[in-house]
Amino acid sequence: MAETVELPSRLAILPFRNKVLLPGAIIRIRCTSHSSVTLVEQELWQKEEKGLIGILPVRDDAEGSSIGTMINPGAESDSGERSLKFLVGTTDAQKSDAKDQQDLQWHTRGVAARALHLSRGVEKPSGRVTYVVVLEGLSRFNVQELGKRGPYSVARITSLEMTKAELEQVQQDPDFVALSRQFKTTAMELVSVLEQKQKTGGRTKVLLETVPIHKLADIFVASFEMSFEEQLSMLDSVDLKVRLSKATELVDRHLQSIRVAEKITQKVEGQLSKSQKEYLLRQQMRAIKEELGDNDDDEDDVAALERKMQAAGMPSNIWKHAQRELRRLKKMQPQQPGYNSSRVYLELLADLPWEKASEEHELDLKAAKERLDSDHYGLAKVKQRIIEYLAVRKLKPDARGPVLCFVGPPGVGKTSLASSIAAALGRKFVRLSLGGVKDEADIRGHRRTYIGSMPGRLIDGLKRVGVCNPVMLLDEIDKTGSDVRGDPASALLEVLDPEQNKSFNDHYLNVPYDLSKVVFVATANRVQPIPPPLLDRMELIELPGYTQEEKLKIAMRHLIPRVLDQHGLSSEFLKIPEGMVKNIIQRYTREAGVRSLERNLAALARAAAVMVAEHEQTLPLSKDVQKLTSPLLNGRMAEGGEVEMEVIPMGVNDHEIGGTFQSPSALVVDETMLEKILGPPRFDDSEAADRVASAGVSVGLVWTTFGGEVQFVEATSMVGKGEMHLTGQLGDVIKESAQLALTWVRARASDFKLALAGDMNVLDGRDIHIHFPAGAVPKDGPSAGVTLVTALVSLFSQKRVRADTAMTGEMTLRGLVLPVGGIKDKILAAHRYGIKRVILPQRNSKDLVEVPAAVLSSLEVILAKRMEDVLENAFEGGCPWRNNYSKL
Ligand code: ADP
Repeated sequence: MAETVELPSRLAILPFRNKVLLPGAIIRIRCTSHSSVTLVEQELWQKEEKGLIGILPVRDDAEGSSIGTMINPGAESDSGERSLKFLVGTTDAQKSDAKDQQDLQWHTRGVAARALHLSRGVEKPSGRVTYVVVLEGLSRFNVQELGKRGPYSVARITSLEMTKAELEQVQQDPDFVALSRQFKTTAMELVSVLEQKQKTGGRTKVLLETVPIHKLADIFVASFEMSFEEQLSMLDSVDLKVRLSKATELVDRHLQSIRVAEKITQKVEGQLSKSQKEYLLRQQMRAIKEELGDNDDDEDDVAALERKMQAAGMPSNIWKHAQRELRRLKKMQPQQPGYNSSRVYLELLADLPWEKASEEHELDLKAAKERLDSDHYGLAKVKQRIIEYLAVRKLKPDARGPVLCFVGPPGVGKTSLASSIAAALGRKFVRLSLGGVKDEADIRGHRRTYIGSMPGRLIDGLKRVGVCNPVMLLDEIDKTGSDVRGDPASALLEVLDPEQNKSFNDHYLNVPYDLSKVVFVATANRVQPIPPPLLDRMELIELPGYTQEEKLKIAMRHLIPRVLDQHGLSSEFLKIPEGMVKNIIQRYTREAGVRSLERNLAALARAAAVMVAEHEQTLPLSKDVQKLTSPLLNGRMAEGGEVEMEVIPMGVNDHEIGGTFQSPSALVVDETMLEKILGPPRFDDSEAADRVASAGVSVGLVWTTFGGEVQFVEATSMVGKGEMHLTGQLGDVIKESAQLALTWVRARASDFKLALAGDMNVLDGRDIHIHFPAGAVPKDGPSAGVTLVTALVSLFSQKRVRADTAMTGEMTLRGLVLPVGGIKDKILAAHRYGIKRVILPQRNSKDLVEVPAAVLSSLEVILAKRMEDVLENAFEGGCPWRNNYSKL
């Protein structure tokens, strides 16, 4: 600390512009002007011992009177040099020498300063020499006279420091003692406030204890930000008591200003947004935990995620990838964009079954067969094929056989067969619905760069099922389409190809996933829309639909028990007799499968459930029954002759009691109930008869995604220009068929010189309108040729076709009948409609073996080679034109 030094009588003077150096302060300045550089060079640099110079404040009004800015770290200019004691020195160095120093107002008191450190620099490219000087203020002096020594000033001075004796005398003064105590208290207070804020440690406090009070006053004040005037008055306070009271005032003021500033910061902090606050708190928590070394119960989410990831058993390359991503996540803040997506991604990686698998037990073929039999009625061939498939798997578990694909109309049991396969293999079952999937990304996922990107259905399905070896059903594989967004079929191809699916690439997942352990099974309504490369990978198993007898069996054995169970009913309460089931099959449903049959049965069960619930409310049956277990009551009841009471065995549980009690009043479904619940019958066998009641209507058999269907064709004619109109959602093929049919009929008519009934002429002045009812069903395909001709012949001959006869077949221009597809489904449909005779192309006779014998025996099948054969059989009493063509 600045000890008292003997001052020389002359001192070189460095002017301090609008600024004061107080004793005890340390300051760093940079000298660049000619005068200051010369001064430093001659008075300090060239002297062996570090010399003394005088610092004299000068007032320069051009710069204003307020100076003493706080340090500005990083400023590298002339004016902004960092002092060691928070002050910025501003010397005349910045001012050009041109400015005459005589213009300046010199202060008469200054402070002698000692150079603590000097460094010399040469500016490039000018070569100008500059000095950086660290100065310590020592003691006050008075300027007696100011003169020049070369370019800089020198002054004759007298010291203003007190002698030791004077000092001791002042220290006796009670006023001084009081003042110094007051100063110390204030200073102490300031120090503690600053320490709290800046963690400066105890150094300043030590100062307070050791440095003499009069010097302390200067040191303290020197570190504050004050006006030039205040600094000057502090410099001028030579009297110790004055100096102390001044310093106390300044320190106190500084203290107050810090407190005010603190209050303001607190207020501002209070207004920090919630999320910022949370963030701060979280950071603090993390810091605290770290500080405590408290890592074992670090149950935060990321740690849990990491543990889950470790347990997932990823292959090593994927584990590395996941760890990289996890490291990224750890560096992010939860509020940061991308945090969530990164997290969701890692969750997926952790959730995916990389090695978790259903344990595959030894496959028991007999049990599998029993299982298939108990779950499904009939379907002998299909079951046989499934057993073969399973047998191959048993012999060679990693055999890459083709993928089974069940083809057939809705509700024939495709899905439930697939789940039976899963059960037989002891694996989990997961179903992916592919209906309507047009976008490749649905299968393969979106890249993570997209907002809201997701994994594809496959990966999603695997995550859901949680094992890597499930039976996966690709439902409705024929319903995938392709458009601009890519072709899902190509992605599916990769899935089904054993060569490729070892490393299936989902865009979202972005690491290969091994699908080779998955057993794939597919379903489709139709074969035709399945892209050939996919078809190539699959083995088709057709399920054509059920006959009415089969449906009845399925309903009685499987559907009714299941439906009752689902509704919490027992067969004791609701009885659906066979006759009523038949009724439902014939008059309420007309489908290839049993789905709508199941729905109708469920509707009955629902209605019955409501009745049970209502019944229970009005008659608290179980309570009454409980009482019966007492012998007394039993006797009384027996007396009363209540029949239903007698059959109750003792000590049975409530459930059985309920059933027994109710059995005599079990609800038996009858026709009235059927109509009440299901509404009036939707179909009846007389439909065909009604439809063909007038001439110009024929009965065709077509094939749709719902299986075979009976389809009526209506034709009519009216005055016109010989045009043909077609309506009823028709495809191009069927339009051409209609054209062909009309041409054939016209050709025949002219051959026969056919005068049509009355004045109607096929050829002249008439338009023909052909309509295919059921406008909602799109119709295409070539199998309506014979039906169209029959309708036209009926129209022109004004003879009705037979209501009991349906037909299918394509026809050539010359009248040859060509074979068509879907014979089995079509015959089943005819059977459902109660049709008795079916006309088929001769060349389709080979397809009849597929038709269940029971159905075939109930139908008369007529095989036609030529159109004339069809017409001969379609009308009562043979073809109306028979006479004409028999003449040919
Ligand atoms: P799909 O997948 O062919 O559309 P589902 O498998 O969903 O049809 O079958 C519909 C309902 O019919 C299911 O409840 C199923 O159990 C039942 N079902 C279909 N065929 C049979 C059958 N042969 N035996 C027993 N139940 C069957």
